Amino acid sequence: MSPPNTDTNDLESEYEALLSFMYLSPVGIVRSDKSGLVDMMNPLAAQLLMPLVKGAGIENIFDSLASVAPELRNLVASFQAERGPVCENHRVFVTPARDGAVVLACSIIKVGTNLLMTVLTDISRQVAAERRARQTETWLAGIYTSVNDFAFFTLDAQGCIESWNPSVEQLTGFAETDVVGHTLSRFYASDEIVLERAPEHIALTRDEGWHVEECWCETSTGRRYWGQILVAVLREEEGKITGYSVVLRDVTQRKVTSDNLARLLTTDHLTGVSSRAHFFEIAEAEVARAKKHGRPLSVVMLDADYFKRINDTAGHQAGDAVLKRIAGEAKGLLRASDTVARLGGEEFVLMLPSTTTSEAMAVAERLRAAVERARIDTAVGQLKATVSLGVASLSHTDPTLEGLLADADRALYDAKRAGRNCVRGGVAEPTDVACSACEEGKACED
Ligand code: GH3
Ligand code: MG
Ligand code: MG
Repeated sequence: MSPPNTDTNDLESEYEALLSFMYLSPVGIVRSDKSGLVDMMNPLAAQLLMPLVKGAGIENIFDSLASVAPELRNLVASFQAERGPVCENHRVFVTPARDGAVVLACSIIKVGTNLLMTVLTDISRQVAAERRARQTETWLAGIYTSVNDFAFFTLDAQGCIESWNPSVEQLTGFAETDVVGHTLSRFYASDEIVLERAPEHIALTRDEGWHVEECWCETSTGRRYWGQILVAVLREEEGKITGYSVVLRDVTQRKVTSDNLARLLTTDHLTGVSSRAHFFEIAEAEVARAKKHGRPLSVVMLDADYFKRINDTAGHQAGDAVLKRIAGEAKGLLRASDTVARLGGEEFVLMLPSTTTSEAMAVAERLRAAVERARIDTAVGQLKATVSLGVASLSHTDPTLEGLLADADRALYDAKRAGRNCVRGGVAEPTDVACSACEEGKACED
């Protein structure tokens, strides 16, 4: 295709060179006359414009962009010179300006009296990064005014510390010569230093404009603290990042508080075993895992015998001591993958993954014997206690948590009726449930 009638000049020969590689160009290029009638465009331009024309053809570049950038037509019309840039990196918001928005940069160059070259670039990612950088500024302003315990310094393009100020020494104890030229790993606690950690932090910052990480850090004297490290792009020259700013904060207090909160939510305050709520969370996941892999899963339900009597005769505190001891004996028997939880009052449950019914019966019997043997120290002297236990395994006729717990409950009731201080359950139960991938009813090895 020959270009439309234009004067031969430098711009035109450059434009001819441009044509030869425009098809492979990483930017969208459209050639049109000054009314916008498209003469040629490369595949990327078509791809960028296609969503805007909603199935219609792309005959006129200004018509195609009219719904999102009606000003382009006027910009060209009011451009008086014969050649030159009409607009450079004019931002066209294809979808609304929020995170995830599609944004094009549009540059129009008039290369002849009736010839335009339009260059379209998808800059959605950069715009999103800018937005985040602006949020960071706001965030930083908040830190300056509300937090005292922070260090502020800068990194060079390679992620090495280049500036230092007294706030760094105040927080970390490191003097200027200790840190300048080092990477962020200078601040990490020795057991947190993983080869790729600091470079990865910088890479994420480069991609997203800013990035926050938290890990254990250490001061120059070896004091550990939970550090929050915020890195934000500081300088950008011609699209290249030349520096970063870093805010390092000691947020140990917050970490400790949230760890405490997590512990409060997942453990029983009296006995230290899992809480009822936490048990149900774990148990659902265990049932799903057992079903998926065709592995057995067993539970042991435990209830203290004549516990009301212990409370009544020895007092509530002595009762508490008995509960703690029962929990302790249970914990002592379990493997790392097992869970013991207090379901309420004097009732506990043991969740035993990859454990067959007969194995679970054996665990229950050991626990029964251990409690029976125990001499429990209380304020009113040593006490003895016994427990009753019911065992059940996930069945393949009703492989649900509800079914499993109901079976264990029934077995426990049987143990109580049989006179207490004994184990019941595990009858007529296959050792394995069917793997969903295997033939129905058949156990599988995986
Ligand atoms: P059984 O052998 O049939 O299980 O009889 P039991 O007395 O153990 O059962 P019952 O359900 O009649 O009594 C349970 C008692 O456990 C009643 C309640 O006051 C007591 N209890 C519940 N939670 C706690 C606790 O946290 N601490 C103490 N000390 N006692 C508790
Ligand atoms: Mg009970
Ligand atoms: Mg009881």
